Amino acid sequence: METRRPTIPAAEEILGRYFPVLDHGFVALVDYMGSDEDVERAARVSYGAGTRKVSQTRGLVRYLRRHRHTTPSEMVELKLHCAMPMFVARQWIRHRTASVNELSARYSLMPLLFYEPGAEQFALQSRSNRQGRETGAPEAVYREAVERWERLRRDAGDTYRWLLEEDVAREIARIDLPVSTYTQWYWKIDLHNLLHFLSLRVDPRAQWEIQQFARVIAGMVARVAPLSYEAWIDYDLLAEPLTRVEREILGTLLDADGNGIAARDGAAVTTDAMKEAGLSAREVRELVDKLRAPERPDFTLDLSTMVDADTMAAKMYEAVPDTGLE
Ligand SMILES: Cc1cc2nc3c(=O)[nH]c(=O)nc-3n(C[C@H](O)[C@H](O)[C@H](O)COP(=O)(O)OP(=O)(O)OC[C@H]3O[C@@H](n4cnc5c(N)ncnc54)[C@H](O)[C@@H]3O)c2cc1C
Repeated sequence: METRRPTIPAAEEILGRYFPVLDHGFVALVDYMGSDEDVERAARVSYGAGTRKVSQTRGLVRYLRRHRHTTPSEMVELKLHCAMPMFVARQWIRHRTASVNELSARYSLMPLLFYEPGAEQFALQSRSNRQGRETGAPEAVYREAVERWERLRRDAGDTYRWLLEEDVAREIARIDLPVSTYTQWYWKIDLHNLLHFLSLRVDPRAQWEIQQFARVIAGMVARVAPLSYEAWIDYDLLAEPLTRVEREILGTLLDADGNGIAARDGAAVTTDAMKEAGLSAREVRELVDKLRAPERPDFTLDLSTMVDADTMAAKMYEAVPDTGLE
């Protein structure tokens, strides 16, 4: 039967396909409802498939995002199937505006898949950012870390398997699986809240591992709602708000009127002058960063990595301990 639902060819192409993330994780777009036209239709509360040009839809979508008129983008939804290490899931679940169903380790047997950071992700504690990493971890420390991780995970996996074989309840057997163990969930969220999630989680200040998931999801959004995605990049992700003091400082440098913007002759502002104007040393650094031209990120999905659901399911089943139990 032919559908009367709006479908988007670029989204249909990846629907139900699995994109590997990290060493054993994945993200799949299971379903979606709506696209940019539905954002427009909701904003106008108008009928059916319209005759409007893409340029008109684009103008409205961009206007809505620029002016934080966000409810029309709540009319578009994405449903994803994702597998991620438990420590990533713990960060992800903080986004309360999604509907979630996680694999029940009380009911199901857990695939014994553990995240192991690659050598290039193995890093020292950052000196400048307490939540960050710094390059320069000695190779020998990485080698020993891998050995220790493997020993610990073998032990945790063996204990899990043994408890199951002894017919201990699954909800007890799983209690010492490490937070590197992969879990899975179905995650449904509307476009407005998804873009908020992406703004926080593709950001370099987010943990690198969750960034990898967010980047793939951003690539999916670009296919489902390309105009909203573009507006998000322009008005949210790469935009920066200016504070009152910052605007006053810029006002001493630039002349802005109906004819355009011009630099005031010979105008300059020193760090000390910015501090005198009321900015802290950190705010001065942040203002300088804000004024650098941003680099456009590339979240294009790599379709060559995409696998079908059966292939991904087989990989997961293979990792479930064989206890002879159902
Ligand atoms: C880089 C980074 C570091 C972090 N570090 C820590 C940390 O050290 N410790 C820690 O505990 N968390 C940490 N977090 C989590 C963070 O504090 C947020 O919980 C998380 O990012 C979810 O953001 P949110 O609440 O805006 O999103 P959502 O839960 O998706 O909510 C979206 C929006 O809905 C509104 N909203 C939702 N629920 C409520 C509510 N109950 N009341 C009012 N408004 C609501 C808010 O406007 C909110 O912004 C960190 C997050 C990031 C990105």
